[in-house]
Amino acid sequence: STRIAIVGSGQLARMMALDGIPMGMCFSFLVEAKESTDCVDGLGRIVVRRGEAEKIYEDLGKPDVITVEKEHVDIDLLRQLQAHCAVHPNPDALEIFKNRKREKLSLQSLGIPLAAFQSVSSAADLQQAVQTLDKPIFLKSEEEGYDGYNQYRITADNETEVIDSIDFPSAWVAEGFVAFEREVSFLAARNVRGDIVFYPAVENLHSNGTLLRSIAPAPSVSEPLLAAGRKYLEDILVKTDYVGLICMECFVVGERLLVNEIAPRVHNSGHWTSKGALTSQFENHLRAITDLPLGSTQPQGISGMLNLLGVTLSAAQASEERCFLTLYGKTPQPRRKLGHITINSDSYEDVAARLAAMEKLAYGGVSV
Ligand code: ATP
Ligand code: MG
Ligand code: MG
Repeated sequence: STRIAIVGSGQLARMMALDGIPMGMCFSFLVEAKESTDCVDGLGRIVVRRGEAEKIYEDLGKPDVITVEKEHVDIDLLRQLQAHCAVHPNPDALEIFKNRKREKLSLQSLGIPLAAFQSVSSAADLQQAVQTLDKPIFLKSEEEGYDGYNQYRITADNETEVIDSIDFPSAWVAEGFVAFEREVSFLAARNVRGDIVFYPAVENLHSNGTLLRSIAPAPSVSEPLLAAGRKYLEDILVKTDYVGLICMECFVVGERLLVNEIAPRVHNSGHWTSKGALTSQFENHLRAITDLPLGSTQPQGISGMLNLLGVTLSAAQASEERCFLTLYGKTPQPRRKLGHITINSDSYEDVAARLAAMEKLAYGGVSV
């Protein structure tokens, strides 16, 4: 059987393994000493990172392929592991996408439109950004940011406070506010031999920087915008010789698409594919990195996904037809991603109504 090692042990690693095990794959997980492994307990060997690359490779059970469930990974270690087995996506691509500044410069060099931004590494840079960019300004750390963490929103009211609270020198990207009508993401997979498949675009709603709901296929996005998004993503995949599943998050402003960021991995906005597409994003990622033919991305009706942030539902509460509960096995903490629900139906109206009812049930009518 094909042996896959995943760097990371969160819900994305869990869902990859749960889709790969019936395909005859076996899994191991590389974690840091302090990392929680609740999500992957029982799904394969868990290896705490220690020692040289060769020893890590052996501890992982000499995998055929190493992949990642997050972009915050040690690129040098991945490069050393390449001496022993395939690493997908390749470390050069991950090095670009783990850093917002490198990512933006790389997208710009492909002619892909972005929000106005400035690199910030000193208080003077920040002063300059505050004077030129549209407010509220999003100040995002170059690395280690996710779910809106390591971000500030700078308004006229808090600008001195924020500038004073940051210890420079440190690396940030300041972005001007984008008055978007909606957010959409594009997911695609590319295998080793270079075949590419695209999922239908997804519309996403965030709450305080964290994804709350997705609807797929995204309603009310014009065909030219969809075509532009697919073209950008195809250019990115080919240019970086990317292998695996990728997600591109975008803002829609009128008839313009601005790329927000790239996630070099399976993505929360693709969770609906497990119940709402012929092949899930997790299976297609595994197919891509083991150079199998990619599976059909055809949607099965309309899907809606609701994240369970710090709350859960029981199987009984989510037992209506074409409603699917996925729990990650985590210890509850406020706003922590504990699971999600997917609703599948034949109409957008029905998906919206049933998703709203589930949200009320999960969050008790409190706004998220
Ligand atoms: P993720 O978990 O998706 O990796 P992140 O921490 O990398 O999140 P972003 O995706 O950059 O953060 O921002 C989170 C959300 O904040 C966006 O999806 C969007 O709703 C909002 N946002 C970010 N930047 C801007 C901007 N320049 N203008 C308007 N809204 C923005
Ligand atoms: Mg991000
Ligand atoms: Mg994001």
